Amino acid sequence: MAKDYYKILGVDKTASEEEIKSAYRKLAKKYHPDLNKDNPEAADKFKEINEAYEVLSDSQKRKNYDQFGSADGPQFSGFGQGAGASGGFSGFDFSGGFDDIFGDIFSAFGGTRSRARRAYKGEDINLSLNITLKEACLGTTKTIAVTRVETCPKCAGTGAKDGSNFTTCPDCKGAGRVRYQQNTIFGTTIREGECQTCGGTGKIIKEKCTYCAGKGIVRVQKNIDVKIPAGIDDDQILKMTGQGNAPSRPGTNGDLNIKINLVPDKLLTRKGNDLYLDVYVPFTTLLLGGKSAVPTLEGEFMLDIKELTQSGTIMRIKGKGSKILHKESRGDLLVTLKAESPKALDKKSKDALKTLADNISISNYPKYKKYMDTSKEVK
Ligand SMILES: [Zn+2]
Ligand SMILES: [Zn+2]
Repeated sequence: MAKDYYKILGVDKTASEEEIKSAYRKLAKKYHPDLNKDNPEAADKFKEINEAYEVLSDSQKRKNYDQFGSADGPQFSGFGQGAGASGGFSGFDFSGGFDDIFGDIFSAFGGTRSRARRAYKGEDINLSLNITLKEACLGTTKTIAVTRVETCPKCAGTGAKDGSNFTTCPDCKGAGRVRYQQNTIFGTTIREGECQTCGGTGKIIKEKCTYCAGKGIVRVQKNIDVKIPAGIDDDQILKMTGQGNAPSRPGTNGDLNIKINLVPDKLLTRKGNDLYLDVYVPFTTLLLGGKSAVPTLEGEFMLDIKELTQSGTIMRIKGKGSKILHKESRGDLLVTLKAESPKALDKKSKDALKTLADNISISNYPKYKKYMDTSKEVK
C-alpha cells in the first residue's frame, strides 16, 4: 500500500519543491503515453509518477504523507467513507504547477487534452481526538468543534453581491480563455489558456459580497458529530470525506482526518481486541475458593474462583473485551489473579497460619519442592 513517492520520483526526502518539480518534469516527459505507444507499461509508470507528484507537490499533502506514511495520505482503512478515487487524475488539485508542465508537453507533441473545468479541492483538516478505552471498545458519538473554511452562504461562493452581481470579463469577452504566446522548453508556441482576469469564468464581479469581502469563503466554527466506530484503536484515522475546508474557488471540500488518541485506562490494558486486567484477591480466596468482583467495560462481573487456584492464574472472560471493528463479535477479558497477603496479622490469625504452615507437607508444593531439590547454583 505504502508507495515510496520519493523513490518513484528519484528524489531525497529533503528535496525542495523545485527539485521535485524538475524530477517530475523529466519523468513525465519520458513516460508520457503519447510518446510510448509501443510500451504499455509506460502508462502505469506515468500514472504512478503523477500520483507521487500530486502528493509531493502539495505541501499539505506532502506533510501528511511524511507524517502518516500512507500512499493516500492520512486514511483509515476499513471505513465506509473511504478515500474515494485515489491517485490518478480524479480529485487532483490543478492549482499547482501541473497544468503549466502539461501545457508544455501537450502542445509540443500535438497531444490533445480535454479542457474540462479545473477541479479545485479545499485543504484537508487534520486533528487528533482523545477518547477513552471504553469509547474505543464500545463506540460512541463525539461532538467536536472544528474551525473550517466554508463557502460563503450569502453569495454561494461567487464573491459577488447576492451571488449575481457580475459583468462580462473585458479581457476574454466572456469566453473564459485567451490565446497567448509562450516560450517553453520545446520552443515558442501559441497557447490557449485560462483567462487570468476572470479565472476562466468569463465573468468578473461588479460589486463584492460584503459578508465575505468578495472571497467567496468564510471561516466558521462548526460542531461536527463524529461517529466513533466500536473497535477503533489508538493512532487510527477516521476520514470524513468532504468535511474539511471549502476550496477558494468552486470545487470540492477537503476532508476531515481525525487521528484517534486512546487515553490509557487506569485498570484495563488493550492488545488487539482483548483486554487485560490484574486482579488482587486475598490469598485465602485463592486457597479456599470464592467470588471476586471484576471491573469490566460494562460494570461489575462476578468471577468464580476455584479452591487451590495458583497466584498468576489467567482467567478468560469470554466476550468482555473490545468489540471488533465492523463485526458483531467481541474480544475477551483476560484476568490475571494475584494473591494479596494481609498487611497485618493479629495473634490468633498468626497462630492459625503457623498451624497451617506446619500441617502442609512440602510435597504439596511441587514447584517449590523441585526448586528446593535441585542445586541452588544456576548452570
Ligand atoms: Zn460572500
Ligand atoms: Zn476573462
